[in-house]
Amino acid sequence: MKTRKYIFVVGGVISGVGKGVTTSSVGKILQSHGYRVTAMKIDPYVNIDAGTMNPTEHGEVFVLKDGDETDQDMGNYERFLGHPLSRDNYMTTGRVYLSVIQKERALAYKGKCVEVVPHIPHEVIDRINNACDKANAEIVIIEVGGTVGEYQNVLFLEAARMLKIKNPDDVLFAIVSYLPTPSKVGEMKTKPTQYAVRTLNAAGIQPDFIIARSDVALDNKRKEKLALFCSVQPDGVISAPDVDSIYDIPGNFEKDKLGEKILKRLKLKSRGRSSDWKNWEAFARKAHNGKEEVRIAVVGKYFDTGDYVLSDAYLSIIEALKYSAIAQGKKAKLVWLSATSFEGNTKESKRHLAELSSFDGILVPGGFGARGVEGKLSVIRYARENRIPYFGICYGMQLAVIEYARNVLGLKDATTREIDPKSKHLIIDIMEGQKENIEKGNLGGSMRLGAYEAVLKKGSIARTAYGQDKIVERHRHRFEVNPEYVATLEENGLIFSGKSPNGMLMEIAELPKSVHPFFLGTQFHPEFEARPLSPHPIFTAFIKSAVTRGKKK
Ligand code: GLN
Repeated sequence: MKTRKYIFVVGGVISGVGKGVTTSSVGKILQSHGYRVTAMKIDPYVNIDAGTMNPTEHGEVFVLKDGDETDQDMGNYERFLGHPLSRDNYMTTGRVYLSVIQKERALAYKGKCVEVVPHIPHEVIDRINNACDKANAEIVIIEVGGTVGEYQNVLFLEAARMLKIKNPDDVLFAIVSYLPTPSKVGEMKTKPTQYAVRTLNAAGIQPDFIIARSDVALDNKRKEKLALFCSVQPDGVISAPDVDSIYDIPGNFEKDKLGEKILKRLKLKSRGRSSDWKNWEAFARKAHNGKEEVRIAVVGKYFDTGDYVLSDAYLSIIEALKYSAIAQGKKAKLVWLSATSFEGNTKESKRHLAELSSFDGILVPGGFGARGVEGKLSVIRYARENRIPYFGICYGMQLAVIEYARNVLGLKDATTREIDPKSKHLIIDIMEGQKENIEKGNLGGSMRLGAYEAVLKKGSIARTAYGQDKIVERHRHRFEVNPEYVATLEENGLIFSGKSPNGMLMEIAELPKSVHPFFLGTQFHPEFEARPLSPHPIFTAFIKSAVTRGKKK
């Protein structure tokens, strides 16, 4: 008989306390015990994918190799598990209903009345099993977005309950819950978690584990209380205090023998530690070593929300920078700068620009629309003229090419069709195949998405960094460098060091090392391929150049 075990991870009390990292860490430790593991995310919203949502509110859109636009947690799963996931590993309410309705139209229910229960939960279960089959996994960890008790979670919990009834030894539940310590009370409180577990019970589910998130470790008194009042075995209450580095979490769980406890409840045995585990632990230790900082300014626009600054929209970039810095024995210190603060010819904006010279490197990430563009262009110009290492990703590459056209080629109105279709010099234009999508309003999941090949130019920074002629990277864009300007730009010193195999799409733009220590932009998103144990070569080249600048300063 094939092994097939299911672990559901749900949230209690509040979201955003590390369900995704818990899911990834549980995956990592079960993998380290010799099992083939895959992870899935269920997002309860109606959107078909995460691509149509505002990144400031929802966080990063993580693009899979197959082009699916998914939730940022999928990025954590890939980084921890170390292998790519597919669109089968991601599901939303929208996706589930859409396929049930399509099946109904195709008479697949053979005359039955199609009902919310059981047909929706059945579809959810089918999708989980399908993802397991495709990934050839023995254990699947399924994270249910949001928290228990939210109306939109109900049908997913119902699916989990049905699965448990049919396979009592094969299904396990963990609730990641938050234990607050209100400052005026001065004591860590278990009651919110007790209520969350009751809510889960009301859905017919009894958790096997409580992953207790809090700022400090749980004491025995609180562990006993949670065990008794939530009907969880005492060894099922796992203390998960805040940590400086998320990469410590799998190791911390293993100190509590979580892997063995899970395996025992699933009636499985450890197959002995995988060799990868040692490397992982070494990386987790090394992540603490770098004392010297490499200071990188990230100039974007998706981080102001009310009075708070959140950097979730750039999660994969943050991790990619970290990995490359750690590999150099350094610590990446990222400073978030709002693109709009560089706009206008004011004293303030000039002061902000001048302050850029205190950084070792500048990064402009992907983006959409007009807001902040002029600010980014000023920043790019400053980085180019002052020889500060510059790395542009997607929009950050397109804008670097526009800046070059404006200030080196003298085409003052150079721009992108995305913001001014009437301009005479559309340096960045719509990709041929995208015109129809825009005209027809077919805007969801229709960009140039996912993995495409590029060919690198001999002797370029990119070719040297990758150490190979051909690469495959993940994309998410609708616009491209206008082929009509390529020759002029090249004649004036810009190098297109990466192109699509047919030579038509510009994938990487860079300046020669003789002119600038590191000025490079990629049309693709290299951050989606960076992994703790294999940092991304372009990020590493950028960090190395920033470290060199730091030493000179
Ligand atoms: N807005 C640009 C485009 O669609 C860049 C996209 C991005 O940065 N991901 O081409």
